[in-house]
Amino acid sequence: MVALNVVMMGPPGAGKGTQADRFARSRGIPKISTGEILREAVQAGTELGRRAKAILERGELVSDDLMVGIVRERLGRPDTARGFVLDGFPRTVAQARALDGLVAGKDPLVVVDLAVAEEELVRRLTSRKVCGTCGANADPPSDTACRRCGSTFVQRADDREDVVRERLRVYARDTKPLIDFYRDRPTFRSVDGGQAPDVVAAALASAVDGVAALGAARGDEARQEPSR
Ligand code: AMP
Repeated sequence: MVALNVVMMGPPGAGKGTQADRFARSRGIPKISTGEILREAVQAGTELGRRAKAILERGELVSDDLMVGIVRERLGRPDTARGFVLDGFPRTVAQARALDGLVAGKDPLVVVDLAVAEEELVRRLTSRKVCGTCGANADPPSDTACRRCGSTFVQRADDREDVVRERLRVYARDTKPLIDFYRDRPTFRSVDGGQAPDVVAAALASAVDGVAALGAARGDEARQEPSR
C-alpha cells in the first residue's frame, strides 16, 4: 500500500491546519504541525519553548536547523509508517531540501498548495479565535466554548494585525519560493482554498488520492517489469 506522505502548503490563514487535521483524521495518519509543536513547547516552558517564544511573537521563522531536528525526530516515530500530513513545514527551501533527505526511499511527497487571496487571509487571521487550552480553532466561528476541551477562546498572540502582516511578508519572502521548488514535480497540486471548507476538503482528498493512484500504478509497473 502507498503511504500518504502529504505536505500542506499555503500562507498563514489559508486553512492548512483545519484541512490537514481533517484529512489526517479521516485517513488515520498523524498530522504534524510544527507551529503547534512550538506553541506547546512555549506553554510548557521547555528549552525549545524558551528559544522559540520571542521569534513566534514577532512572526519570524525559527532556525532551519532547529526545525529540521524536530521534524527528523517526529518522522522517525512508527506512527508515520502509513503516512503523515505536514502542516507548516517546510517553510524555506533549505527545509524542503532537508525533507527530501528525510523521506528518501519512502513513497513520494504529495505537495498540496492551498491558494487564498491576501486580503482574505488578513481578514480570516485577525478575526480567528483559538482555544486557550488546546489550540483548536473556533469552528464554526460563532462557537463560544471549545468542542474538544470546553475551554474559552482567545486570540492567538501572533494573530494581531501587525504580526499578521509580518507573517505574510515572511511567507512571501521565504516560503512562497517553495512553490517554485515543488511546482514541476508530478506530485504537486494546487487547491483553491478560498472555497467553503467542505469543498476544499473534497478537492484536497481527490488531489491526494489522484497522486497516490499514480504512484500505485507506477509501483505496479515497476513490480511487473522483471517478468516482461
Ligand atoms: P503556524 O502555526 O504554522 O502558523 O506557525 C506559527 C509560528 O511558528 C510561525 O510564525 C513561526 O514563527 C513558527 N514556525 C512554525 N513552523 C515553522 C517552520 N517550519 N520553520 C520556521 N518557523 C516555524
